[in-house]
Amino acid sequence: QSQELSHVRIDYHAALLALQEQGTRMVCTGKMHTDRICRFDYLCYCTEAEEFIFFHSNASVMLPNLGPRRFQPALLDLSSVEDHNTQYFNFLELPAAALKYMPKPVFVPDVTLILNRFNADNLMHIFHDDLLPIFYTMQQYTDLDDEARLVFMEGWGEGSHFDLYRLLSSKQPLLKEHLRNFGKLMCFTKSYIGLTKMTTWYQYGFVQPQGPKANILVSGNEIRQFASFIMDRLNITTEERPEGDDYIVVFSRASNRLILNEAELILALAQEYKMRTVTVSLEEQTFASIVQLISGASMLVSMHGAQLIMSMFLPRGAAVIELFPYAVNPEQYTPYKTLASLPGMDLQYISWRNTIEENSVAYPDRPWDQGGIAHLEKEEQERILANKEVPRHLCCRNPEWLFRIYQDTIVDIPSFLEVLREGIKVKPNLKKSKPASVVHPGRVRQPKCQTSVQAAHEAKLSVSWQIPWNLKYLKVREVKYEVWIQEQGRTHTCLTFSPSKTIPFQRTLSPLPHI
Ligand code: UDP
Repeated sequence: QSQELSHVRIDYHAALLALQEQGTRMVCTGKMHTDRICRFDYLCYCTEAEEFIFFHSNASVMLPNLGPRRFQPALLDLSSVEDHNTQYFNFLELPAAALKYMPKPVFVPDVTLILNRFNADNLMHIFHDDLLPIFYTMQQYTDLDDEARLVFMEGWGEGSHFDLYRLLSSKQPLLKEHLRNFGKLMCFTKSYIGLTKMTTWYQYGFVQPQGPKANILVSGNEIRQFASFIMDRLNITTEERPEGDDYIVVFSRASNRLILNEAELILALAQEYKMRTVTVSLEEQTFASIVQLISGASMLVSMHGAQLIMSMFLPRGAAVIELFPYAVNPEQYTPYKTLASLPGMDLQYISWRNTIEENSVAYPDRPWDQGGIAHLEKEEQERILANKEVPRHLCCRNPEWLFRIYQDTIVDIPSFLEVLREGIKVKPNLKKSKPASVVHPGRVRQPKCQTSVQAAHEAKLSVSWQIPWNLKYLKVREVKYEVWIQEQGRTHTCLTFSPSKTIPFQRTLSPLPHI
């Protein structure tokens, strides 16, 4: 007897026996629910109750064994967004003996990665919260390979860019709604739950106003490697273009937050930089064709918005110009600035904001989620209309923020060009800028400190060390050592070396008062 799910066949009888006898086994990494990823053998899911189930037997393992702390507040975060209370994961427990009274389980033979997508209709969220963390979680565990199965438990439909999730593995991802089709009780032979948070650089403002994460652990290198994986999977190759064939891409939005004088803007850019300038939008072009274009562009100009996440596909040295509607302070909304500024991304970032109220078209009568404010008290509406800048606010439904960010804009060309001229120091097609690979020196070896008495009131201190081991293989122009001299008690002096700091050796050694 065998059960088939996709193409892999497993021995049903053996699997059932293993589940009954061994129960579920869980081993996790991470000290806190916010940095935990768990690996399970035979974790089950009851589609009726919509609960994961841990079957206890004598051979079960549950590490960490948190007892009731498993619910404070959860075992782990199912999405890459930190500590969001709609994204918590936990399981119910049952004795394996209960299996006798339950529906026959269906086994999922693939190694699965189970997670929540955070917002599958927004391109920024798709990349930042889902694709990058999934990609690097898969890199962390070797059995999460191209044959792995992704399972999305947040409960939505495919969303607007499901094809992008399909690029990550050769198997069709499963949605929560699909699970019912497999039966009442599903058991994942091998599964991982949770996502790495090391690749995210932005927090959306749930507890403090949005901004870059406090401790960013990703560099441009990892973003670019991921971007080239995506390009590979999309069959995109960057062709060598002849010298002088540089171009600018204007990324426009077709339904809201429009640039109302796009033609004028394009003309101004083309004249200023003597480059051809092309427009793209997600409504008009395929995702892949936009990536193809962006990957060869010298400059990307766009209104603030999720489409700007595609700046990760720009070549090194290119410039990102982000436009902000009236009353929106660019310094407070920086997901794309932070991305462009990651070490090793090698992008130039410039923002422009509309400061001329008459050049702005607002939509007070639209629904609240498109920036409408007609539903608010008259006084509140007037306050918002009179305000020249959206005050700092938390996510996600601040009406003043939504009102302002969904305005259309006539870009004032003189001020726009001025910002560009000031911001872009060199010609933007600085494509051959060298990759920033920083190599750190190792520890200095055999540090020595010798003191000797020369005369009654004179002492000598000599300090020596050998260079760090890796230095002899590196082409470095200059190496700086920092030497700390500390007096110990009143009798002698010793040295501390701090190897990776690069402060010049500039302390003068003064004669020792007492030896
Ligand atoms: N979007 C688009 N064209 C538009 C408006 C939105 O392609 O005219 C896309 C946008 O890139 C994002 C999604 O629709 O992927 C949701 O847009 P929203 O305005 O909600 O988010 P934001 O762009 O402000 O992050």
